[in-house]
Amino acid sequence: MTTGFTYEINPGRILFGPGTVDAVASEIERLGAKRALVLSTPFQRADAQRLAEQIGALAAGVFSEAAMHTPVAVTLRAMAAFEAAGADCLVALGGGSTIGLGKAIAWRNDAPQIVVATTYAGSEVTPILGQTEDGVKTTVRDRKILPEVVIYDPTLTVGLPVAMSVTSGLNAMAHAVEGVYAKDRNPVSSLMAVDGVRALRDALRVIVKDPGDLRARTDALYGSWLCGSVLGTVGMSLHHKLCHTLGGSFDLPHAETHAIMLPHSAAYNAQAAAVELQPLADLFGGSIGGGLYEFARSLGAPLALRDLGLRESQLDLAAGLAVKNPYWNPRAVERDAVRALLQRAWEGTRPE
Ligand code: NAD
Repeated sequence: MTTGFTYEINPGRILFGPGTVDAVASEIERLGAKRALVLSTPFQRADAQRLAEQIGALAAGVFSEAAMHTPVAVTLRAMAAFEAAGADCLVALGGGSTIGLGKAIAWRNDAPQIVVATTYAGSEVTPILGQTEDGVKTTVRDRKILPEVVIYDPTLTVGLPVAMSVTSGLNAMAHAVEGVYAKDRNPVSSLMAVDGVRALRDALRVIVKDPGDLRARTDALYGSWLCGSVLGTVGMSLHHKLCHTLGGSFDLPHAETHAIMLPHSAAYNAQAAAVELQPLADLFGGSIGGGLYEFARSLGAPLALRDLGLRESQLDLAAGLAVKNPYWNPRAVERDAVRALLQRAWEGTRPE
């Protein structure tokens, strides 16, 4: 049954398909810009340099110091490089870390951004920036943060290692799972969520066997676009709060933490949001928590927080932090129930 809703659409231009990376130069011109600073992590520096060569005179240089959690110190160095190079726009080539750096610069100077997305995390289609300073991670939401152009070229994801493809894909699915029961969901965000999860489910099954399968890579990127768009449109709940806590306070890795937590947080909300979750549960054999757990296991995903280095003695603190500030969730966020959820996720046992 459709009831009332508010749907705020994020503006953005999406170029999707094999070979679309060749359009970076024409997209810079289309934005009316002349000199792009190309951003990457140190790991993808060679790719960024190749891209800078490809766009020729429109490249102002390469800044390849992007790092996880967008440290403000790195952003300030990148802004100095932007000024020194006389740049007037940004091209971010990479996953959430590099995209975060581009967003952090654009939030400060409103430079237009072109993102060439190479993971499934989904940051490229959200107006959200998470950044860290003095060990504290804060989140801002602002129209200036949303990239103007996103290029999804699946040929650039063929080399994404299988383990990262799996955890990044589950990270994307988490946006969709929380999206279907979001308080501010709308019919379009729910359609995107279900088709995004379906596309990623089918694609990841192929990718773990044949990472070079371009059709599966294309479907996975399509799914990640849809799931990221859900994240950019509606509010998130318990799952994202738990992952934010585990990443921010215990330094657990982003995608792996999402991958481990998803079956447990989905199971926590399974009954309270049974109607909304049903189309997703149907994609995993009828049970959202157990089904996602079996799916993750079949892909060889990490299943236990203890394998990420979290100590059992830290679970009490994690539960306390995750319930400290009230936020909306379909089921009441109760400390003891959250502590029990964390215990199962720590041990890696199948959720009920
Ligand atoms: P990442 O960007 O940190 O990438 C991990 C590593 O993989 C890096 O070394 C990167 O260079 C490399 N890599 C990326 N693409 C590759 C490819 N195709 N082939 C080979 N190597 C590749 O990982 P991520 O999971 O995409 O991003 C995580 C970060 O993004 C976190 O800080 C998270 O908070 C943030 N994030 C933000 C949002 C948002 O909306 N603001 C959404 C999702 C994630």
